[in-house]
Amino acid sequence: MNIVILGAGQAAASMAAKLRALGHAGGITVIGDEPAPPYQRPPLSKAYLLGDMGLDRLTLRAPEWWDEQGITLLLGRRATGIDRARRVVVTDAGEVPYDALALTLGATPRRLPAAMGGHLPHVHVIRNLADIAAVRPALVAGARLVVIGGGYIGLEAAAVARKLGLEVTLVEAAPRILGRVAASETADMIRALHVSHGVQIIEGVGITAIADGVALADGRTLPADLVICGIGVTPETALAEAAGLALDNGIATDAQGRTSDPAIWAAGDCASFPGPDGRLRLESVGNAIDMAEAVAANILGAATDYVPKPWFWSDQFDAKLQIAGLNAGYDRVVTRPGSVWYYRDGRLIAVDALNDARAYMIGKRLIEGGKSPAPETVAQATDLKALL
Ligand code: NAP
Repeated sequence: MNIVILGAGQAAASMAAKLRALGHAGGITVIGDEPAPPYQRPPLSKAYLLGDMGLDRLTLRAPEWWDEQGITLLLGRRATGIDRARRVVVTDAGEVPYDALALTLGATPRRLPAAMGGHLPHVHVIRNLADIAAVRPALVAGARLVVIGGGYIGLEAAAVARKLGLEVTLVEAAPRILGRVAASETADMIRALHVSHGVQIIEGVGITAIADGVALADGRTLPADLVICGIGVTPETALAEAAGLALDNGIATDAQGRTSDPAIWAAGDCASFPGPDGRLRLESVGNAIDMAEAVAANILGAATDYVPKPWFWSDQFDAKLQIAGLNAGYDRVVTRPGSVWYYRDGRLIAVDALNDARAYMIGKRLIEGGKSPAPETVAQATDLKALL
């Protein structure tokens, strides 16, 4: 069986490795439009942006590994279509036939419209190596940076820029930072961290335009030598859509990762799959790895449902935020010094821990084990380990 993996990020690398580990002896081809072999993205807004980490440590596999594994890398190749009837991927440099195709296409950063200045050369996004190459030269001490968006990208970039000595203002249009991913209790801890390091945070105010400065909806204009936008991502669905595959907040798969075409699979940021409380699409490296490995097994016939064990982390200044579970639909929050515990209908669903690895580990084990200690017990526990 000839397996083609389209998209050459974390999910592709994990899937290719898993296919070989499970004994697949047929062809594996990975097609990607970036020139570099698969690399880690999380450091792009952390150590790599800071300049603390070289390209050699970013790469997921040594260059010779791909050859040793008999995996063909077609890099710098843009796919332009999927011909499902003939089972070929059409690229700008010829056709690639497949028996099974996996779409690991990732997601693309949202940009502000050109009419608002989103296209200007000093306005940056952070998603791939080319983005970092473009923004790095502008990260010089004393420069004035405006970050738009108070999600992980915006907050991590703000922390790196402050460490490098820039003047940093972060603008979040929603009432508070981390609105999509965390409770206000966690956002309060993260805001305090940034303010203590000299980042100015403006919440509940939108942007009207970027020119030399950034014009805010409240009439102010922030001076800016550069702007970094971290206003979310959209899943890469264009090829799947053109090929007539079902979409639903991403490329829709069944519980095993199969799309509406039985010969085509999807995994990672681009894929949505049935979860316990409705369809899920997870934007995280943990999901990219785990779902890709599950799909690899299913391509080879395992027929096993993918059950995510969501976890996330973020490094900002000297702090480490770790998140276990998904907090969607939470109706109660319990706080302990350094951790926030989320409940839904009396069930523990997520834990945020700031510099508290113990709370994270214990919360993760409880959630994965389907255990829910009473909120009062969590609030009062002197030894968290006793909760297990
Ligand atoms: P994100 O988590 O979706 O956050 C984007 C933020 O920008 C949201 O708070 C959003 O508010 C706000 N926003 C949207 N439009 C805006 C506007 N016009 N003006 C001001 N604020 C605006 O996405 P992200 O931070 O860009 O990150 C991109 C992806 O990479 C995400 O999947 C993220 O999880 C991932 N990532 C993860 C990590 C990590 O796990 N440590 C680190 C970096 C990136 P609304 O919600 O109100 O729209």
